[in-house]
Amino acid sequence: MQITSDASLQTRNTLALCAHSRALVSIESENALREALAWARANSTAVTVLGHGSNVVFAGDLSSMVLVQATRGRHCLDDDGSHVRLRVAAGENWHHLVEWTLSEGYFGLENLALIPGTVGAAPIQNIGAYGVELGPFMEAVHALRIDSGEAVTLSSEQCEFGYRDSVFKHRLRDQLVITAVDLRLPRVARLQLGYPALASALALRSEQEISARDVFETVVSIRRSKLPDPAAIPNAGSFFKNPVLQKQQAARLKAQFPDLPVYPQADGRDKIPAAWLIEYCGWKGHRENGVGVHPDHALVLVNYGGDSGACLLQLADRIAVTVRDTFGITLEIEPRVYGQCNG
Ligand code: FAD
Ligand code: NAP
Repeated sequence: MQITSDASLQTRNTLALCAHSRALVSIESENALREALAWARANSTAVTVLGHGSNVVFAGDLSSMVLVQATRGRHCLDDDGSHVRLRVAAGENWHHLVEWTLSEGYFGLENLALIPGTVGAAPIQNIGAYGVELGPFMEAVHALRIDSGEAVTLSSEQCEFGYRDSVFKHRLRDQLVITAVDLRLPRVARLQLGYPALASALALRSEQEISARDVFETVVSIRRSKLPDPAAIPNAGSFFKNPVLQKQQAARLKAQFPDLPVYPQADGRDKIPAAWLIEYCGWKGHRENGVGVHPDHALVLVNYGGDSGACLLQLADRIAVTVRDTFGITLEIEPRVYGQCNG
């Protein structure tokens, strides 16, 4: 096991924020993971798990040992002609997995193309986009307990998936290192074309003419046109979750702000786009202290070279205060915040 002490995390988070961790180990096998967890226990060191760092904010240095999940492997557990069951290692690249499933004739993940990050992080917030979420395709999550190294398997129900949410953000937060996931994918495509941006991009074709590959390519092309590439402008995607309100509260707001978009949810509540609230409050395109709000996408906070997580979080706080004062809605930060703020 190779431990790097006082390791820089700047290239290990898509916001390119400057931070160091006490120790860092790249995990390439389950044995290496067991060894690293045993070392952390023996040295009374806390553990932080990292994939590609596309949904984290480093507010300052980390006193923990960072384990970067870099395990590889995808294999078919069984194929009954109607569905295939796959086991995929946590360190695999999510987008490459989606591309591979389509090339093998396994469907369902096409709307989730180009989401950055690893397979092991995907269940943490039940990744979702363009009207599809990971949850319905997940059969099981395999993990090791951080405190004991014990292997555990959770069924999809035990993951308690919700809107950008799961048990891993609550009861099992910081308890497990996910090592692999089992997915169950249909062999016949059932395309989800209802999401407005997707529907309008494909509007000139009849449904019979559209393949899963077309959906994949359309999602990739919409995402490339709308979202800043973190390699060019460091960011963590959506910085805030879209608030989900009780119907009465959404109706009151709609009466006060008639242009407010309101999306009814299956559970009877209404989802409001956080980007609209932030733009209404005048933050779109704002820049300060080397950080800012992207000029084309108000939900995306960016690092223009300030490199300080503390400055980014101060900006996020100020945005949240104006949204709360204007609409009475408390925004929740989507990425996980780590490290101590010194500023
Ligand atoms: P990291 O950022 O490394 O980690 C995120 C959290 O998961 C951390 O708390 C970490 O401890 C935990 N974690 C990671 N791996 C493991 C593991 N193996 N075991 C236990 N815990 C683990 N998200 C969406 O849902 N939909 C989108 O459309 C979307 N678009 C995005 C676009 C951009 C440009 C960016 C930058 C981000 C976007 N995201 C989106 C957010 C992000 O891509 C996802 O949350 C992704 O799953 C994070 O993967 P990661 O490997 O980078 O995780
Ligand atoms: P968009 O199409 O401009 O829509 C803005 C927001 O309104 C989205 O977040 C979406 O919520 C919601 N919305 C729009 N139409 C909807 C409908 N018919 N029903 C329900 N909700 C609707 O969004 P965008 O920013 O370009 O992102 C496109 C997709 O990629 C979205 O699904 C978004 O979640 C996902 N994405 C996520 C991240 C991230 O970091 N989490 C980053 C970039 C993109 P939903 O978010 O619930 O879809």
